Amino acid sequence: MKLYGYPGALHIHSSYSDGTAKIPRIAKAARDAGLSWILISDHDTLAGLENREAGWYDGTAVMVGYEVTPPDSHYLVAGLEELLPPSLPSGELVEAVREKGGRGFVLHPDEKAGSYFKPPFPWKDRSVRGFDGIEIWNYMSQWTEGITERNRYARFLCPLLAVKGPSRDVLDWWDELLAEGERVSAIGGLDVHGTIHQLWGRFPLQVFPYRRQFGTIVNHIVLRRPLSQRWSEACGQILDSLAEGHSYLAYEALGKARGFRFLAERDGQQWTLGEEVPAGGPVRLGVHCPRWARIHIVYNGRTLRRTWGQILQSEVQQPGAYRVEAYRFGRPWLYSNPIYLAKRELSPPERRRYTPPARKPWE
Ligand SMILES: [Zn+2]
Ligand SMILES: [Zn+2]
Repeated sequence: MKLYGYPGALHIHSSYSDGTAKIPRIAKAARDAGLSWILISDHDTLAGLENREAGWYDGTAVMVGYEVTPPDSHYLVAGLEELLPPSLPSGELVEAVREKGGRGFVLHPDEKAGSYFKPPFPWKDRSVRGFDGIEIWNYMSQWTEGITERNRYARFLCPLLAVKGPSRDVLDWWDELLAEGERVSAIGGLDVHGTIHQLWGRFPLQVFPYRRQFGTIVNHIVLRRPLSQRWSEACGQILDSLAEGHSYLAYEALGKARGFRFLAERDGQQWTLGEEVPAGGPVRLGVHCPRWARIHIVYNGRTLRRTWGQILQSEVQQPGAYRVEAYRFGRPWLYSNPIYLAKRELSPPERRRYTPPARKPWE
């Protein structure tokens, strides 16, 4: 099966909220980093969209969504041209985004500790359903967790030290949702602001330059046909892929992940990330990693099969969600979205499938 992969990044703040750079500069940093697309999301503002700064920048698609920021539920909204107020309770917020035809992602749900300069903003109400995805890995919140006045200089100079990978808590939550039969995709966010700090009160140091961050957590969307050159169509392809899980994310400081593939095959037919294999006989799952890694196929929160190398295959039959994790140098590197195996006999009411909105707001 011919597939097309496009690396990109999301959860990016510009100077329209608390970031330090304007959108055209961020776009250039993204293009220099080799990204095909980025999604900017400033706090409770669509100024980037209003000022017509979304669009192609030398072949890189720069989309503008926003981050709704109530204290107990930061939510990434994309594909909407209307702002939703941060006063909405999280359940209503999720519902409203879905109703209006947007795409929504729970942000840093597991942010635990704050730091001396910011409190934590975890997603409190875990009973809410209906969002498209979860940010399982947030680069910024890992970095701020445990930061103190004392260790901050070491962290400013070498931020990679603090990056551990998704927490057990957020992975367990994701696996629980998948086991419930929810279709929830995983994304990795940068939460990049290009923060500038005064070292010893004097020397300005850009702690997280956009360009460097674009080489860390990368989301690769995987399409069955090439990314369109038409703006609205391309936005639809990118956002649908993120929301439906036709994507994987990798911490590319440990190695580029372009070319990763996870496929299911039966009787000559193939399926990939975020797709559903209809009920039937056994299915052969195949993982291909572009680099050597410790590869796991995860099912119901447990490792089903693992190997050290570039290829892993497994024959499966149980319905549910199968996903891949890969590690390099003993550290988390890559997380794929699941391939779903449909249940054998499904009565219609049991089947809770996501129905895409009838109209896409960017059309
Ligand atoms: Zn946030
Ligand atoms: Zn943010």
